[in-house]
Parts: sequence; C-alpha cells; structure tokens
Amino acid sequence: MSSRTYDLDRAHVFHSWSAQAEITPMVITGAKGSEIWDEDGTRYLDFSSQLVFTNIGHGHPKVVAAIQEQAARLCTISPVHANEQRSEAARMIAERTPPGLDKVFFTNGGAEAVEHATRMARLHTGRHKIMSAYRSYHGGTHTAVNVTGDPRRWASDTATAGTVHFFGPFLYRSEFHSASQQDECDRALEHLRHTIEHEGPATIAAIILETVPGTSGIMVPPPGYLTGVRRLCDEHGIVLIADEVMCGFGRTGAWLAIDHFDIVPDLITFAKGVNSGYVPLGGVVINEAIAETFAHRPYPGGLTYSGHPLAAAAAVATMTAMEDEGIVQNAARLGTDVIGPALAAIAQRHDCVGEIRGLGVFWAIELVSDPVTREPLAPYGGSSPAMGEILGACKQAGLLPFANFNRIHVVPPCTISDDDARRGLDILDQALALGDRHIG
Ligand code: PLP
Repeated sequence: MSSRTYDLDRAHVFHSWSAQAEITPMVITGAKGSEIWDEDGTRYLDFSSQLVFTNIGHGHPKVVAAIQEQAARLCTISPVHANEQRSEAARMIAERTPPGLDKVFFTNGGAEAVEHATRMARLHTGRHKIMSAYRSYHGGTHTAVNVTGDPRRWASDTATAGTVHFFGPFLYRSEFHSASQQDECDRALEHLRHTIEHEGPATIAAIILETVPGTSGIMVPPPGYLTGVRRLCDEHGIVLIADEVMCGFGRTGAWLAIDHFDIVPDLITFAKGVNSGYVPLGGVVINEAIAETFAHRPYPGGLTYSGHPLAAAAAVATMTAMEDEGIVQNAARLGTDVIGPALAAIAQRHDCVGEIRGLGVFWAIELVSDPVTREPLAPYGGSSPAMGEILGACKQAGLLPFANFNRIHVVPPCTISDDDARRGLDILDQALALGDRHIG
C-alpha cells in the first residue's frame, strides 16, 4: 500500500487511540449515502456510520449546499455575536427536547459537551462528585474520560477527578444474578441507591448516563430503569445528565433516545447526528433551573468556535432534511421490519451469536466462544483471532461494521435502503460462520 496520501499520513499524522506503528489506515477518497470508497475505487457499505455519526448518510445535497451557502455569506464569527444559523439551530434543538430544556450551549463535539454539562452541574449544586456507569463512553477529555466506564479511561484516570462508577442494567451479563428484565431493573436501581447512600448524597453533583449505552454494547435499558434513576436524582437533589451524543438524533428511531423512556433529564449532551458530523458540532441543552444559576452569574466556560456558523448551518439543514424526508421514521422502520428480524434469524443460525439487541439503526451482536458459559469471543478490552477473521471477511466482501471487543455493531445511516441493509446483513451472516468454528 503506497500513495502520496498514505505516505504523508504515516510520516506526519498521529492517530487517535492507536499504536502509531501498527496501523494501516485506508485512504478514503469519496463517499455517498451509505457507501465510502478508497483510492483504488474499492467500495464499502458503511455499517458503522463511521464513528456512528453519519445519520443522514454521506453527501446529503441539501446539507452540503447549506454549508456552501453559509461559507459564502458568513463563514465564521466570534461566539459573542448572535448569528442566524446558530439561533435557528438552537431553536430547532430546543424544539426536539422536552419542555423546560430551552437553552443550548454549543461545543465542537461530544467530549466538550460532557465537560461543560458536568461543570454546569457542579456549579449549580455546589457539589463535586459525578457518578456514571461502567460500560460507558463519554469522550476523551479530562472529565469526560474520567466518567467513561471502559478501558479507555484507565491510562488517564487520575483517581482525583471526582468520579464514581456503578453498574447499570445488562441482563445478558448481569452483575445482579438476575433472570428477568424486571429483576435486573430493580436490582440495578437498588445497587445505585446503595452507591449513592455510601458515597454521600450531598457530595454528588450529577449522574451522567448514555440513555442507551452505545460503544459499550447498545444495552437498551429495561422499562422503569431510567425513571427510577430520575426518582433517585430528585430525592437527593442530583442533576441527571442524559448523554445523547451517540443515541440521539434519529439513531434509535426517535429524535432522542429519551423519547422511548418517558424521562426528563436536567441536561442533555448531543453531537454526532445533530448534523451528521459534516462540520464538528456538539452541545448541552440546559433546563430552566440550571440556566437560571447563570442568569446573573457568569458561566465560567467558553470556546472560540461555540456555535460556529458552518456547523450550525449544517445542523439546521440536517434537522430539516430529517423532518422533510421522514428519516427518523425510516430508522424506526428499519429496526422493526428489516434489521431486527434479520438479526434474529442470524442469531438462530450461528452458535457464536450469544445475543442480539437494539432498536432503530442501533444494534449489537454479542459474540461468544461458548453459548452456555457466555465466554466472550474476545476478552473485555481486547481483540482475538476469531474477531479478526470475522471482521476481515466482512471487509473482504465490502462491508464495514463497527466492532468493539467481542461485539459487532450494526449501525448504518438512518437513510440506508432496505436492499443495502439486507446486502450487508447477508455478508455478516456469511462472515459469522467463521466465528462458529471457534466454539469450544
Ligand atoms: N458521549 C458519547 C455517548 C459518545 O459515544 C461519544 C463518542 O463516541 C462522546 C460522548 C464523545 O464525543 P466526541 O468524540 O465528539 O468528543
């Protein structure tokens, strides 16, 4: 593999989360809809939406045009000034969040949104601790990585960041010896209650949860869990932050994942799908009480590019396209009519599939080397030859899924055609036969 782009990348580009000498990045030269292609013209069906952000697919013409028009009109401006696209984007986001969450602080991505949401919660409550779940990802910056509950935290965990972790519900790998979703829900809430009591409720500023945990395994919470967390927060004056960075803006077949669960958080973090990542954007939606804290007391935080006009224009055009083209409804339909049934059939055919779970265009396949003991096909935090073989076969056949440890996630754009979704699922079906050979 050698081209000028590749050689310059290897000489000068330092990549995220990687051992620099051990990676061979693909050189991608174009993308449209649910496909990307490399410099040799090899096309791949994108079942990953990249890092689960191209919710409207690549190259949506109306969003591209909106960015171009905004670039010609007002390419950039300081965040101290109001600008039309930022005002519109804030209005449209506030319209899609529950009543009472009406103010938006814009950031450049999800981690910054988490940094600011936790800072707001700390200042609002006058407390310092932030509680979050094991098996979660909240971003790569200081507080965001410290609230993260996966191995990416370990190297940066200062043990002084004021973060406390607890276990959320996950019936397939229950920490609570549960046999039903109801037991798992009740016991996970009991565990959270005890953790709060033993940490000291008056020391806890916020609980931050991904509404549906994404990278860590798409564990859709059982009915009643999130309302139970909301009740515990109310009881103890704790701010509830719903992290919708990955699960928001259509991914679960609803505008926001909280729409499935009948809860109203105090703060909502978002990024990714809000403008499908065409220009970096994230933010925090803030409720009245927290906004009021900073009505006459300056909020001590800001960003040079907060509410950048190009990013905001992309968000306005993305939400408009999602509305006009029924993209959220399409994601819901894909989940119930196409992806869900196909994955259920795949689970029947392959011993290496321990569980499938998800909704909308947000699905995980949990792979095991022993269906009885549920031994993962790759260890927690690691990979394995079996996972490598399955992913290699997918790529060979032109499919790019999202993989993490022993899981493959089916997370295509919300706009993928039924035919493309079925084509990708067929490739996955064939590749999983390689996993079956590792059943011990
Ligand atoms: N929160 C969640 C739930 C995420 O999935 C991510 C990224 O994957 C982040 C926060 C961090 O977002 P970013 O990478 O834009 O900083």
